[in-house]
Amino acid sequence: MTQLTIYKIKSGSNIEKLSGKLYKFSYYRNVYSAALGGLVGEYEKTGQNGSKTKEYGLKAYSPVAAGFAYSEYDDFGASRSYGYKRRHLGHDMLCEVGTPIICIEEGTVECIGWNQYGGWRIGIRSNDKKRYYYYAHLRKNRPYHTDIYVGKKVSAGDVIGYAGRTGYSAKENVNNIEIPHLHWGLELVFDESQKESDNEIWIDIYAITKLLSEQKAEVRRDPLSKEFYPVK
Ligand SMILES: [Zn+2]
Repeated sequence: MTQLTIYKIKSGSNIEKLSGKLYKFSYYRNVYSAALGGLVGEYEKTGQNGSKTKEYGLKAYSPVAAGFAYSEYDDFGASRSYGYKRRHLGHDMLCEVGTPIICIEEGTVECIGWNQYGGWRIGIRSNDKKRYYYYAHLRKNRPYHTDIYVGKKVSAGDVIGYAGRTGYSAKENVNNIEIPHLHWGLELVFDESQKESDNEIWIDIYAITKLLSEQKAEVRRDPLSKEFYPVK
């Protein structure tokens, strides 16, 4: 804090008054709450006996279920060459084919289906519409959890699909990714016109992924359907 700022506060100014000039307080609040607003905060926790309590803290989940191994490094911005030369605007978590993929933050399924870059992918929008979660390269033949469809409301901790190595093909259901992994991305949407444009804002989520690893969803496999379900 500069001497001038301290002087201004002592002489009766405050953060709100200074925000437009020195701090840009409201700007930073908008940016940080857009990125983190749905991940940390107040949430309802269901106890083992079904009782509900209000908690405060991390309310989002790691995209990889508990008990499933993965490896990672910070690969945001690395160059990619399939299709056209571009930057890697997400984070890769190397894991086995079939690893249950978990919904990070509650929201609505906005798109599913094939994309030549992401293969079988799923896009989920947060309830406040500010965050768009993109999960890609899901499993060949059976990429999604059985009751996933566009418009479906999903909760943090739900199983939404399975890791695989689909993508890098204009043809559907093709395994052209060499090493199985989940690619996930987080796009901030401040204005709808910017969502699918040259001005998309994809943020570096390496640190967020580390934070999310503090909370992993426990899952169980239904032996008949072979589908995984959260243990809630
Ligand atoms: Zn990736």
